[in-house]
Amino acid sequence: MKITIIPGDGIGREVVKQAVKVLDRIADKYKCNFEFEEALLGGAAIDATGNPIPEETIHKCKSSDAVILGAVGGPKWDNQPGHLRPEKGLLALRKELGVFANLRPAILFPQLKSASTLKDEVLGDGLDIMIVRELIGGAYFGEKKRINIEDGQRAYDTIDYCTNDIKRIAKKSFEVARKRGKKITLVDKANVLETSRLWREIVTNMSEDYKDVEVNYMYVDNAAMQLIRNPKQFDVILTENMFGDILSDEASMLTGSLGMLPSASVGEGNIGLYEPIHGSAPDIAGQDKANPIGTIMSTAMMLRYSFDMEDAAKDIENAVSKVMDKGYRTGDIMENGMEIVGTEEMGALIAAEI
Ligand code: NAD
Repeated sequence: MKITIIPGDGIGREVVKQAVKVLDRIADKYKCNFEFEEALLGGAAIDATGNPIPEETIHKCKSSDAVILGAVGGPKWDNQPGHLRPEKGLLALRKELGVFANLRPAILFPQLKSASTLKDEVLGDGLDIMIVRELIGGAYFGEKKRINIEDGQRAYDTIDYCTNDIKRIAKKSFEVARKRGKKITLVDKANVLETSRLWREIVTNMSEDYKDVEVNYMYVDNAAMQLIRNPKQFDVILTENMFGDILSDEASMLTGSLGMLPSASVGEGNIGLYEPIHGSAPDIAGQDKANPIGTIMSTAMMLRYSFDMEDAAKDIENAVSKVMDKGYRTGDIMENGMEIVGTEEMGALIAAEI
């Protein structure tokens, strides 16, 4: 299995190193072979080549089976013109790989309950919600315009979805739900939006082929409230781009710890892009302080969704949980009575538990 490793900027390099450590251990245990190749993206790529996404990076990613990315960006490149900014490289990479589905789990480890803003009785034994967000359609990509009118300006953005855009992401979420709690909540605004009504029709029709998966429907305003009131009712939340953008940030904050959360972006092909949800954290870069768990959990998602290695994915997730149980914490999730460890040691501890 060929994996392109993109360290990117800031803590990116430190955290992806730990993912490789964990994968080496998985390779030993499962007698399989991962071939790693590094590529440049973002600020590091601008410094080396003047381009946030060099052709070579695109080529390497497209000829691999999966891509693991750290993070891009940092103050050094903040004043670059738009087309030469690190984020441009990341958006272009997603487009090049055709990844239309963003899978963002909001997992709250029971050991870290005190980091959540929610009450103990709401959280129970922890949270495990998967948000499946449509990534390359809807209002962010539809026709938009600004027009001068007599008394000022007029602006509009268009939410635009067609049958196939919806079918392909709905299919992904049914597949994801089958690997989890077998329950999908389609979040929309079908009481007012025509696009939402199309989503509902298509998902309802498709549910005939996935009778083992329960499908519910919820308006987005209610979903925003229910995520805080009773988050445990959700398994997979399927939603369009803008609603997903907002709800996935809300859900991740329920878990209280940015450094812990993974994400996967997948498309029709098999090349998935796996990255933690956090940024390059320039304030702690190069100090062995970054929490590598978000990246390590993204690696578990890669094994599950790109390589169909469910047991190995579970091994990684269990190893993270065991290390938490033993009281090891990086600085961002440190609590009284626990033992603080650096990035390298956290990576080694997790690898050793596999
Ligand atoms: P950030 O996620 O980098 O950091 C926010 C805060 O969380 C910081 O205090 C940081 O130290 C802390 N933090 C983040 N990840 C952590 C980890 N793994 N372990 C411990 N602490 C962690 O967000 P920001 O400060 O808004 O952005 C910094 C740079 O990252 C910017 O250039 C931004 O554009 C970029 N960024 C990139 C991505 C990406 O590559 N996908 C995502 C978000 C932000």
